[in-house]
Amino acid sequence: HRRARTASSMAPSTGKPAVTPDSVINLDHGDPTMFEAFWRETGDAAELVIPGWQTMSYFSDVTNVCWFLEPELDRQVRRLHRVVGNAAVDGYHVLVGTGSTQLFMAALYALAPDSSSSAAGGDAGDEPISVVSTAPYYSSYPAVTDFLRSGLFRWAGDADTFKGDSYIELVCSPNNPDGTIREAVLDSKTSNGKTVHDLAYYWPQYTPITKRAAHDIMLFTVSKSTGHAGTRIGWALVKDRAIARKMTKFVELNTIGVSKDSQMRAAKVLAAVSDGYERRPEQTKETMTTHPPPPPRLFDFGRRKMVERWSMLRAAAAASGIFSLPEETSGFCNFTKETAATNPAFAWLRCDREDVEDCAGFLRGHKILTRSGAQFGADARYVRVSMLDRDDAFDIFVNRLSSLK
Ligand code: PMP
Repeated sequence: HRRARTASSMAPSTGKPAVTPDSVINLDHGDPTMFEAFWRETGDAAELVIPGWQTMSYFSDVTNVCWFLEPELDRQVRRLHRVVGNAAVDGYHVLVGTGSTQLFMAALYALAPDSSSSAAGGDAGDEPISVVSTAPYYSSYPAVTDFLRSGLFRWAGDADTFKGDSYIELVCSPNNPDGTIREAVLDSKTSNGKTVHDLAYYWPQYTPITKRAAHDIMLFTVSKSTGHAGTRIGWALVKDRAIARKMTKFVELNTIGVSKDSQMRAAKVLAAVSDGYERRPEQTKETMTTHPPPPPRLFDFGRRKMVERWSMLRAAAAASGIFSLPEETSGFCNFTKETAATNPAFAWLRCDREDVEDCAGFLRGHKILTRSGAQFGADARYVRVSMLDRDDAFDIFVNRLSSLK
């Protein structure tokens, strides 16, 4: 017990060196280290000690479709969605994956035509099904879809220009890389199409929660909701039991389940987030000294940070004069009960200088690493910049950006 506490009180090993004003600033990945500052302040609210004899079995609940899902994670996922109101959970199966990346692959596997049906006489399953998403799309979609050259599914590019009626459309909203709020562009009612909704960024720090999403397959992850990317836990909310079974089968064949230690940690972290909004006794002058401080509020922290960073970034782009950013949009947030602007986790930055065709190359020359628009099926005049790094790196980035002419 003591050893676990000592380890958790040490500075976390982040794998990234500290930055100085002339360092290379790497904002290529969406590494959510911005949230470390919040979790450092939460005391033991999200701390976990696991005795040596625990979490040893492969199984968590053999009566559940997802037999390796820890019941406590199931409970905390449902609780947090009820607190935030961003997704329906009643009537849905909760599935766990090693990051939502694994569940994305599981969804492709589950939605691809069953090759056994072609053996039974049909021709479904002979050709890989087309996987599409409106450009600019998350760069991992094509990479993850095609890296094993599956016979079941194949990347087919931009959904806007797709012709055909058998497909899987990936809808990312708010969208990575450009932060737009999206809906499916292909009509699955009049075709053989299926949709997967990647709602990794549908949380109040990034966007107003305008409706309770209730799609067939919805993907979420602690990476972007709480910042615990290293815990590698994602979850899917799935309506259809047969699809939930097939997705579970994929995870079983791929990794025989998902780390229980990680699931328990994710459950603890999600519980700490919900506690911040559900368990806040009224504080008076008297109780301030006798009661423990109220649980901290993650989404308040996240929103404050994102608002501040977006305003710094817009000021820097204006000072420089050679960059443009997407227009700010806003809406009424049913969670905060206030009108709020969208503050995307990535900036989709365009270099307007005529002589710069490769914005990522131009910024690299100034020791700022970003991801080229070309990797998202878009123009190389655009880059995607992570807005979720630590304060020191972000500050150096905006300073440097404002001086570029
Ligand atoms: N979907 C989107 C849109 C993402 O941006 C990311 C992370 N960059 C993921 C999924 C993957 O998340 P995870 O860490 O849970 O695998």
